[in-house]
Amino acid sequence: MQLIWFRQDLRIQDHTALWHATQAGSCIALIIISPEQWALHNDAAVKIDFYLRQLQVFKTQLQALNIPLIIRHIPFWKDIPQSIFQLTQQFNINCIHANIELGVNELKRDAQLQKLLEKDNKSLELYHDRTLFPVGSIRNKSNLPYQVFGAFKKNCYERMNVSLPLCYPQIEAQPDLECDFLEDESVCTFTELYSDHLSIELQNLWPVSEEYALTLLDNFIHDKVIHYEKERNFPRLDSTSQLSPYLNLGIISIRQCIQALFRRQHGQFSIEHLGQQTWLDELLWREFYQHILFDFPQVSKHQPFKADTQKIQWRNAPKDLAAWQQGQTGIPIVDAGMRQLLATGWMHNRIRMITAMFLTKNLLIDWRLGEQWFMQHLIDGDLAANNGGWQWCASTGTDSVPYFRIFNPLSQSQKFDMHGDYIRQWVPELAHLDAKAIHEPYAKKLNLVLNYPRPIADLKQTRIRAIEAFRNL
Ligand code: FAD
Repeated sequence: MQLIWFRQDLRIQDHTALWHATQAGSCIALIIISPEQWALHNDAAVKIDFYLRQLQVFKTQLQALNIPLIIRHIPFWKDIPQSIFQLTQQFNINCIHANIELGVNELKRDAQLQKLLEKDNKSLELYHDRTLFPVGSIRNKSNLPYQVFGAFKKNCYERMNVSLPLCYPQIEAQPDLECDFLEDESVCTFTELYSDHLSIELQNLWPVSEEYALTLLDNFIHDKVIHYEKERNFPRLDSTSQLSPYLNLGIISIRQCIQALFRRQHGQFSIEHLGQQTWLDELLWREFYQHILFDFPQVSKHQPFKADTQKIQWRNAPKDLAAWQQGQTGIPIVDAGMRQLLATGWMHNRIRMITAMFLTKNLLIDWRLGEQWFMQHLIDGDLAANNGGWQWCASTGTDSVPYFRIFNPLSQSQKFDMHGDYIRQWVPELAHLDAKAIHEPYAKKLNLVLNYPRPIADLKQTRIRAIEAFRNL
């Protein structure tokens, strides 16, 4: 009997481990719920709710394939290897199939399980599924991992030119197994626990199901990708795919995205327009950070990629941090972004950069506090991308922005939210202001009274302070 252990990959289509398991024989499926461990990893309630909602849909998909599903609640991962080992004995399982998870704790957990199984002549087969190319396989001429995105991307382009990674074929329903697997009842309790305090409006923003994710992808490729290069930086335009929660929880695969992107070229790697290329490059930024996480695991242990930046004297400023977290900094574009995050569990990429740069440079607050806050609130919270994004903005990471190139939130706001519509949406206190005043409501108006805070930082002085902090290293 084969066991497929589903983790961050609750989908049926183009699923590497599922494909291999079903080719090997009769299968049963396993899902382990570990909210206590998820809390240690700072997973957001909105992300856990999204996962549990997808699980409900996924269960019925497995039923249609006659694959019985065992759901177990195991609070901490340290207890997983032993519990799974017992399952293999109970159900006479000789091989477990799963897609690789790249975090340090995940790899350690899987290695422990592998050891236990080997002693009993059983095996754990792990497959590359989360990335386009296997981690550890993109290497420079000295057989070392790339540390610069441009060179990494070039190598990926060369490989795609040879052949684009293909999706796995659809799998067929298996014959009835005629056995009874009891679901752990506490799963229902968790669904209630996480979904209870989330509004229906918030849940409706992020519908679950593979079908929905594939439609989102199709619509994006059909209508939006052509304009992506020109429009992707304008947060009010709704011009990006919003696929990140689906990619992150594995409701859709990276291969499905790539194949859809080159559908018009019949799956050949041939770039027709800038929109297509720019979106591909964003998918490769995702790829890059996943590979970095694997090759440089220190980044997931709260370490900066550039070791010398460990010495930066970050400010201990709890009031400033709280103002940033709650969208009360008095810098409208920053506050709009932070409020979008709290209200929707998502934030536009340009605004993620502006808010992260403001925290780490203008407020000179440790990037790790920002990384944690994002993780605790993002529906698409992903260790590799979040860490990569934060270290890019903080100038502590691989191929990150040079420390002296500090975004000015005011000019960013004027450029990318020209008419102030994004700010108007998320900071209603300023909605009555015109397109000029809305970016900097108190400018040269000493006596103005608004129900909105004055800026907590002087942008010019704090910029100089940040440059000094880095230059002193
Ligand atoms: P699109 O523009 O449609 O891009 C398509 C896909 O490419 C995205 O869904 C995502 O999977 C990937 N992608 C795009 N840009 C990036 C990028 N810069 N880095 C890595 N992957 C990218 N992305 C996450 O998925 N999870 C995170 O936790 C996360 N945290 C971030 C934190 C900071 C400080 C920054 C600056 C960026 C972060 N990103 C993160 C990257 C990016 O902001 C989001 O992937 C993007 O906004 C998601 O929107 P979309 O799906 O519409 O993207």
